[in-house]
Amino acid sequence: MNIAILGAGIIGVTTAYELAADGHAVTVFERHTSIGEEASFANAGILSTGCVAPWTAPGMAGKLGRHILTSNAPLRMARPLHAADLGWMRRWLTACRSGNFAANQSRLLRLAIYSQQRMREVSASMAYTFDRSDGHMVLLRSEKDRRQIQPALIALRELAVPFHEISPSEARQLEPALHPHTDLAGAVYFPQDEVANCRQFAIILRDAAEQLGARFEFSTAVASIDPTQPATLRITNADSPRRFDAIVLCAGVQSAALLGPLGIRLPLRPVYGYSVSAHIPESINAPRSGVTDEHYKVAITRLGQRVRVAGASEIGGRPGHIDDGAIRKLYKVLADWFPAAGRLSKGVQVWKGASPALPDGPPVLGSSGIPGLWLNLGHGASGWTLACGSARVLADQIGGRAPAIDIEGLGLERIMGHGK
Ligand SMILES: Cc1cc2nc3c(=O)[nH]c(=O)nc-3n(C[C@H](O)[C@H](O)[C@H](O)COP(=O)(O)OP(=O)(O)OC[C@H]3O[C@@H](n4cnc5c(N)ncnc54)[C@H](O)[C@@H]3O)c2cc1C
Repeated sequence: MNIAILGAGIIGVTTAYELAADGHAVTVFERHTSIGEEASFANAGILSTGCVAPWTAPGMAGKLGRHILTSNAPLRMARPLHAADLGWMRRWLTACRSGNFAANQSRLLRLAIYSQQRMREVSASMAYTFDRSDGHMVLLRSEKDRRQIQPALIALRELAVPFHEISPSEARQLEPALHPHTDLAGAVYFPQDEVANCRQFAIILRDAAEQLGARFEFSTAVASIDPTQPATLRITNADSPRRFDAIVLCAGVQSAALLGPLGIRLPLRPVYGYSVSAHIPESINAPRSGVTDEHYKVAITRLGQRVRVAGASEIGGRPGHIDDGAIRKLYKVLADWFPAAGRLSKGVQVWKGASPALPDGPPVLGSSGIPGLWLNLGHGASGWTLACGSARVLADQIGGRAPAIDIEGLGLERIMGHGK
């Protein structure tokens, strides 16, 4: 088939790779000049099966998520708050009360485990290596932190997620640069989690997709999907429409705007987060892999010769506006755990990114209900973790094969009722 992919973030690139590997003629449209310029640019890099969880845990809407083991920071409202953000929050509150948290968590987990397996297969066939490391630890500052996460650990045991509760000295053996003067009551170690550079992976995978025949058209914004013709695109400033056999929408937070004119009103909103990345002058002072501070919900990761600290979940606000308080918190948590890890005097990269989030957690994969239009979007705070598996699932669906995992609850009907 002749297939168009909208968006070259991590979701679009992995989708391009899988469809090209299946023998399809693939064209990727990206409005920026390069791969991974938006949400996939400078994320924390954690590929976690242990910490994938929707924002809708019981209690999330009250004291906002203290007792749920997840790297998602509690949601904070920022101004200006768009009417669509309020609508999203209403649906999020409903989802918090619906009792569907466990079902959505196991949907995410199923996809995360499959994704990790698929990523390992795809990486093994790639010509280049990328910055990566094994293992991820959730740091517990106090006995209170330890008590509060116990219900989450029970749920992880039920879901057969491998983890170890470890003592402070065991945690320091795994991460010897952890600051000895910061209170540490213990940690939860996920040996099968990984840390890897998402954008670097996407750039290498673009190369692999091109080797398989995929074409990338950069600086090409899709203005609309034609509601009157199947699988037809209108490109901004181009005279004639582009026709395909199928379109896959992977346009991150912009996906909702492209779907609206087709009658699909998807409650997809940007949830903003921040990261600060700095060069590592001395490796022994930096993390070996990745840690998440459970109290502050801030992750610190090692990405080659850089340390990255990431966190915050803001709904509303402006894309370009940096919240100084959020950045101060990132510096504080970095100083608490790895005070000498990064050179902070120059060359520091401060980034704000918008995760494409649906109110109940899991992404939407599969048919849109409109002939020829497929969806791979709404991966929220776990898009890097879920990318390779989501792309493979979608390629199987387009190819008319049964995906390797149960995809119950990952279709559009979860959000919209029946189809559109
Ligand atoms: C601070 C932070 C930390 C994070 N940490 C992690 C983590 O540790 N682990 C994890 O799993 N996830 C993490 N995430 C989430 C993850 O980064 C996202 O879920 C993921 O990058 C989303 O990928 P995407 O391809 O859907 O969106 P994007 O990367 O935003 O890609 C969408 C692309 O579509 C393009 N596009 C949009 N509209 C059009 C159009 N009309 N025409 C042409 N192109 C278009 C955009 O330009 C963009 O390049 C984090 C996110 C943030 C903000």
